[in-house]
Amino acid sequence: MRVLICEDERRIAANIAEALENAGYVTETVHDGESAWFRGETEEFDAIILDLGLPRLDGLSVLRKWRAAAVATPILTLTARGTWMERVEGIDAGSDDYLTKPFQIEELIARINALIRRCGGHLTTALTVGDMVLDTRRKTVHVDGRNVELSVLEFRLLRYLLHHAGRVVLQGELIEHVYGSDREPESNAIEALIVRLRRKVGVERIATKRGHGYVVGEAA
Ligand code: CA
Repeated sequence: MRVLICEDERRIAANIAEALENAGYVTETVHDGESAWFRGETEEFDAIILDLGLPRLDGLSVLRKWRAAAVATPILTLTARGTWMERVEGIDAGSDDYLTKPFQIEELIARINALIRRCGGHLTTALTVGDMVLDTRRKTVHVDGRNVELSVLEFRLLRYLLHHAGRVVLQGELIEHVYGSDREPESNAIEALIVRLRRKVGVERIATKRGHGYVVGEAA
């Protein structure tokens, strides 16, 4: 799962990135509105955190431009205290949720988890396919009655596949959502990760499709 952080206060941006990465997300950070608009429109993210007070292009304009360009990514806006008009305008412009600064980082993580969950039609913190249940809070998976521990990368990969259960996910897409753009993985990294994951959860639970994609659950 990949989250774009648009925040010009570098300390806040770094704190958010660290907390999201600890929660198993891949993050990308931009510090001004023009970069935010460009990255959000040209790349795939599972959620976007958008500070409304951004330099070069204000957050509200960024939000309107994205929605006008049919960017459907769930968006959580960050607003300054006492600016209720801005919050209302943000919601009108297509923001799905907001947080007022200063906020507790735990609340931000919980809201991002919830946004992504709702967007994928999942109602709880568990992702279930057949007898496989991934606990996205504890980062463990329960398979056929036993608990299996996962590494950070294995968790990210399995969560992405389960979130998109029934859809064939291509290798390139997995690389983006598991590794992020700052770390260039080895060419066979995803295949190797799939091998390790299959050893843990059972080969039959992750199918290979058309040689380059993977699917969990029945492919539509
Ligand atoms: Ca700001």
